[in-house]
Amino acid sequence: MSKLKQFLQDSETKAFDVGHRQTIKFNIGKYNTAVQRGLTQYSDHELARERASYIKTNTIKDLDKYLMEFESNFTARGGKVIWARDAEEALKEIGQIMKRKRARSVVKSKSMSTEEIHLNTYLEKHGIDVVETDLGEYIVQLAEQRPYHIVTPAMHMSKKDISDLFVKKLNIAPTDDAQELVLTARKLLRDKYTAAEVGITGANFLLADIGGIALTENEGNARLSTAFPKTHIAIVGIEKLLPSVMDLDLFWPLLSTSGTGQTVTVYNTILTGPRQPEEKDGPEEMYVVLLDNGRTELLSKPEKREALNCIRCGACLNVCPVYKNIGGHTYESTYSGPIGSVITPHLSGMAENKHLSFASTLCGACTSVCPVKINLHNLLLLNRKQSVEEGLADKSEHTTFNLWLKAMKSRKLLNLAPAGIKNIVLKQVLKNSWSKRREPLKVAPKSFNQLWKERQK
Ligand code: SF4
Repeated sequence: MSKLKQFLQDSETKAFDVGHRQTIKFNIGKYNTAVQRGLTQYSDHELARERASYIKTNTIKDLDKYLMEFESNFTARGGKVIWARDAEEALKEIGQIMKRKRARSVVKSKSMSTEEIHLNTYLEKHGIDVVETDLGEYIVQLAEQRPYHIVTPAMHMSKKDISDLFVKKLNIAPTDDAQELVLTARKLLRDKYTAAEVGITGANFLLADIGGIALTENEGNARLSTAFPKTHIAIVGIEKLLPSVMDLDLFWPLLSTSGTGQTVTVYNTILTGPRQPEEKDGPEEMYVVLLDNGRTELLSKPEKREALNCIRCGACLNVCPVYKNIGGHTYESTYSGPIGSVITPHLSGMAENKHLSFASTLCGACTSVCPVKINLHNLLLLNRKQSVEEGLADKSEHTTFNLWLKAMKSRKLLNLAPAGIKNIVLKQVLKNSWSKRREPLKVAPKSFNQLWKERQK
């Protein structure tokens, strides 16, 4: 089945799944309330957004310069940088490190770039045990699912769903105590940190001036994943750069406020390389995999490259009426919601993913909440335009618009049929789309042209 057909089918199912709607409404509702509360910490939130947008736009414009600066500062402290053009290259390099380290087990903290390259599947195929240490990721890993949301991977599951999952997969007694569920996962994960040869993370930001990565999390699991194993690999999209560590005073609170409503996330860590001689803990080796995977394709399009400003806060998902109806899994892509619909066609192919850019009401709610002011709904329109220019539009759609254009340009053709006949045609043409769940569209009994002529008499 094509991705478009699958998308339409899944959207239809999810949009009418009352249980799913209730869970999402409840969980997103909690976030939206917290975000509103969090925003009160700003005396001028708009100014913060403008500053962030300015910094990111300039950084992306000079991405090559900042990437080189990052590499030279990071390697100066003993870190190793791997440049990966695509998922295949990244996986090959990571596989070689695993071989060198004779790794049998890996602890991983939440990272969308590892989802993007399907790292877990690759490692498991090579006999390496991978454990997700972020609670939400751990839950979706147990459920054998993809993350549902870029910030809260298990957002679609209720407490009862998680309890049922733990009963089934971990053989615990049924419980509705959230604390107990957390403790169960925590107990199981503790030993994994000390046993793993390699720890894998993403990074929220790359810091060019100090050659470091910045990690943001609420559970402390990323710290444990980078402190115990002897090798740390961070897989990071090249767009995650900030020029300076000093920029974090703007970006850290902006990220947490927009994502979860927190003033600042609980654990914020900066890592600048492997353990230094005078340091007590940390890995013996640290690698940063700089992942392109389609990002330079976006960079090459000046009118669209602002999509690379994204700091993955998830705010645009939480306000999107389409996301709230069809849910994260329906997108069948690593990144869902408005930002997913914007970047997926560039990261994973326009032909297979262009439909995502059409799955939007263009209401602009996403644009209005984006902390780095990405004009998301405009970018969706530009993707649509690109797909038409590349000849990817559906043939029947092309024919329909050509006929419509011809008719709209000819008064004679427009007046050819009376309203009754037009309504029969509209009913027939739109029966499987617009009219499926709505009153059929009807033209007025008299056209404006007729009314105007009558008035002139
Ligand atoms: S596009 Fe903006 S709102 Fe959406 S995840 Fe990225 S930074 Fe957040």
